[in-house]
Amino acid sequence: MQERLCIINIGNELLLGRTVNTNLAWLGKELAAIGLPVSRSIIIQDSDAEIESVLRTAWRDNDILIMTGGLGPTDDDITKNAIAKFFRKGLEYRPEIWEQVHGIFRRRGIKTPLINKSQAMVPKDFSAYANELGTAPGLHYQKGGKHFFALPGVPREMKYLFSKYVKLELTNTFKNRPLSITTLHTWDISESELAEKLSQLKVPQGIQFAWLPQTGRVDLRIYGPDPDKVSSFEKKLRSMVDKNVWGQDEDTPQSVLHELLIAMDLTLGIAESCTGGYLGKLITDIPGSSQYFRGGVISYSNKMKISLLGVKADTIVKSSAVSKQTAAEMALGIRNKSKSDLGLAVTGIAGPEGGSKEKPVGTVWFGMSIGDRLTTKRVVFNGEREAVRLKAAEYVILMLIKALRSNS
Ligand code: ATP
Repeated sequence: MQERLCIINIGNELLLGRTVNTNLAWLGKELAAIGLPVSRSIIIQDSDAEIESVLRTAWRDNDILIMTGGLGPTDDDITKNAIAKFFRKGLEYRPEIWEQVHGIFRRRGIKTPLINKSQAMVPKDFSAYANELGTAPGLHYQKGGKHFFALPGVPREMKYLFSKYVKLELTNTFKNRPLSITTLHTWDISESELAEKLSQLKVPQGIQFAWLPQTGRVDLRIYGPDPDKVSSFEKKLRSMVDKNVWGQDEDTPQSVLHELLIAMDLTLGIAESCTGGYLGKLITDIPGSSQYFRGGVISYSNKMKISLLGVKADTIVKSSAVSKQTAAEMALGIRNKSKSDLGLAVTGIAGPEGGSKEKPVGTVWFGMSIGDRLTTKRVVFNGEREAVRLKAAEYVILMLIKALRSNS
């Protein structure tokens, strides 16, 4: 039977939306990898009433509780007292923890503030995990096969204590198989088209199947405890949508393009307008992209489109800067100027201003020059300026991947 595991994140900052709960995301991944997927997560305020109230139900309903935050010297008293009160344990002084806190300040050449003394107080029958990166120790308590852990909120310290102590405790105790997870990245098909295509697909028992719409594309995630089942379901799924799958798991559009261009020994030049350099950033995020990426022009103004890329002034006047003709001439222009095998171009209206009835905000024209083929495509993206720019940059990369794959 799968253990129930609950994460409790303490922090007013989390609830105010000032801090993103990256601790949950990181722990979720780590725990799934040791076969203990999180069943529930709860974020609470840093108050004794909240801590006690959440512990009452969470300790009753779960096998493992992991609490993060509220262990610093300033809020430590509240959290630790609430934990001690709930588990009916008195706090006791642990000289080894006090010595360790001293050591941290000594190394920094600072006198240990007395306020930190509370950190050496640990509920009776709890183990304290020495924190080499900060002053708050981690806490562990077990009773009747159930485990409770409390870790500091600072991500670096939380990760350190989890990796060094908690993970070991959990893997030694539960010996679960890691959750098998795989993700297929699809493109050029809408969520509803995908749903239609997959409507006959039966999800076997023990397999979880999730749709994850990304900006402009959909990811399909399959997970479960049995790797063979996950793999055979993945094959089945792939056979139904193979044409639309551009990558798997950690692949990104730029990493897939990287592999393809190296394998095909092709060079690339890019001309960007509305993406303002974002396309070039994505491509050069990959180390070794200099093997195929010749460079690009951020031709934001019409003048630059004309002077650097050789777009005809007449084209801009007659068709405008966001048009099929301009995208085509930009792609040809950059290919010639950079002396590359391939030319890509993006020109569009990222917004929030500049849209019209015929060309609403989000309209982007793409150009692609490969061999003697010149392809253009118009897409209208939803979303704010940032989303349009991101989607446009990824789209043109995926467009090129598709063209290269169907060519090869
Ligand atoms: P400290 O000794 O720094 O007070 P603490 O255990 O009391 O540590 P908090 O005060 O809750 O932890 O958080 C300290 C800092 O750690 C916060 O300012 C925040 O930046 C970060 N933090 C806390 N909780 C999280 C979380 N769940 N996800 C990401 N960051 C977090």
